[in-house]
Amino acid sequence: MAGTDDTFECDACGNRVSVDEARRTKTMGGLDPTRWQTVCCPACGSRLKTVFVGE
Ligand SMILES: [Zn+2]
Repeated sequence: MAGTDDTFECDACGNRVSVDEARRTKTMGGLDPTRWQTVCCPACGSRLKTVFVGE
């Protein structure tokens, strides 16, 4: 996994969330949860992005 200092901007509340701060949940739609996680805004819970976490 490449080192990254990405931030995600939440469309719903405008919060800017770093990867470390973001809440991670299982993806919807049957993707393998050991490889894919959904990153959610810690402030409002909106889904920000689905990220690949497996190798
Ligand atoms: Zn938000």
